[in-house]
Amino acid sequence: MSVETRSGHRHAGATLTVDLAAIQWNYRCLADMVGAQVRCGGVVKADAYGLGARQVAPALYQAGCRDFYVAHLDEALALRPYLPSNASIAVLNGLPCGGEDDCAEAGILPVLNSLAQLDAWSACARRAERVLGAVVQIDCGMSRLGLSPRELGELSDARLRGIDVRLVMSHLACADVAGHAANAYQRARFCSLADRFAGIPKSLANSSGIFLGPDYHHDAVRPGAALYGINPTPSRPNPMRPVVRLSAAIVQTREIEAGDHVGYGWDFRAARPSRLATLSIGYADGLHRALARSGVVYAEGCALAIAGRVSMDSITVDLGELSAESLARGAEIELIGPHQSVDELASASGTIGYEILTGLGDRYRRIYRDAADRPQDSELRKEMVS
Ligand SMILES: *Cc1c(COP(=O)(O)O)cnc(C)c1O
Repeated sequence: MSVETRSGHRHAGATLTVDLAAIQWNYRCLADMVGAQVRCGGVVKADAYGLGARQVAPALYQAGCRDFYVAHLDEALALRPYLPSNASIAVLNGLPCGGEDDCAEAGILPVLNSLAQLDAWSACARRAERVLGAVVQIDCGMSRLGLSPRELGELSDARLRGIDVRLVMSHLACADVAGHAANAYQRARFCSLADRFAGIPKSLANSSGIFLGPDYHHDAVRPGAALYGINPTPSRPNPMRPVVRLSAAIVQTREIEAGDHVGYGWDFRAARPSRLATLSIGYADGLHRALARSGVVYAEGCALAIAGRVSMDSITVDLGELSAESLARGAEIELIGPHQSVDELASASGTIGYEILTGLGDRYRRIYRDAADRPQDSELRKEMVS
């Protein structure tokens, strides 16, 4: 829901700031890690993990990305006009029934995950009387998507007629746990199963897979989360730049007495006289109700505890010792930012950064920052020019 106002301002209760320059930096960091011989793609499914595929995908293109991945054909069709024609878009969840002609017409690459999808694509190529590009996925141990080893055994060259297989891919189940035995197992299985497609580029790694080392890079990598600042190496410090800031405005403040209750269910009872602030952000904006027990937000660098339950459109926080002047009506309180990463907010919510980002609602004022907005980057550029 987007509203046009006379003042030109969005009167939203909370602000989501997406640093496109940080996404570009993260992309280049991963591309440098895998080296020039390996193609570094960008996964922009689920509206670029909730951050806005129409803004994020062109920024990635500008950073050098040419291979884009979404989950659904509809996502690919919606994104196609925002990318130049030399960018490819692949549909990870595969070719949907009845979607063949739309997919072919728009030049989208389906990821063929079963023999049925392969047959449908081959039939579509015959009807169109031309060769159609595709990605083939092999299941090497996740049991989710892709041709099973048995299906691979039944795959004859005749069945691939009319299909130009551009990439053979699979997916790692445990890449975020570096020492997990599944990684080496899946890699070995992928190599042996993919052997059937000699001379065709191979791809196995997501963000975390890239950090498992060059053995996992093959010919192309498919990072998503790391581009958006989620830590791809959860047991080690985050090598990526933060991308997202989330802040909410104070709607009102109040003073309560010891013994007063706060919020739905009267879950919270003040032990002492307290000052509370109500913020315009709730579970309809992607703030999990589970956050009520362990969640904090930040103002002036101080952690403020959430008091009581998370409501649909608001939360109430304990202002503690903070002075009244610093927290006037309209002051912005940080939920994700320099004091709390997306991974930390996720952990306090009992989930992962992926779910926090993809769950962000559409009621925010959204600000997209590019390189020109970042003083340090423009200074750098100036230095480079002079
Ligand atoms: C989502 C997805 C990715 C990206 O994974 P991240 O962990 O976000 O880097 C890569 N490949 C496939 C098949 C996916 O579904």
